[in-house]
Amino acid sequence: MDDQIQKGLRKIRRAKLTEILLFIAFILVGFLSILVSERYHINFLFIIGPYGLFVLACDAYLGLTATCPKCKELYYWRMSGIGYRNFFTKKCLNCGLELNEMAVPVKEKEVC
Ligand SMILES: [Zn+2]
Repeated sequence: MDDQIQKGLRKIRRAKLTEILLFIAFILVGFLSILVSERYHINFLFIIGPYGLFVLACDAYLGLTATCPKCKELYYWRMSGIGYRNFFTKKCLNCGLELNEMAVPVKEKEVC
């Protein structure tokens, strides 16, 4: 497979992992904000709210910068037709390029 495509897919996988970790950290920040709000008598929304906005900003940034290395369109977004977004997709919504390397058949592999 082309080295440029491998590099692009690696970037998309890293963006996906970052988003998953941000959402898992959201749960931890939620518990932490409850503890801090009880100790210092401030509303927990003042702690978890800015983090929620940070997660939304990161989600928008990562979603809009994850471009498919093959068709150069957004990987998780399909703008043609009604247009939709699927973060959990495993292939490009525009050209169908698989995210998983193992799913791509190897052409040069010798068959015994
Ligand atoms: Zn594509």
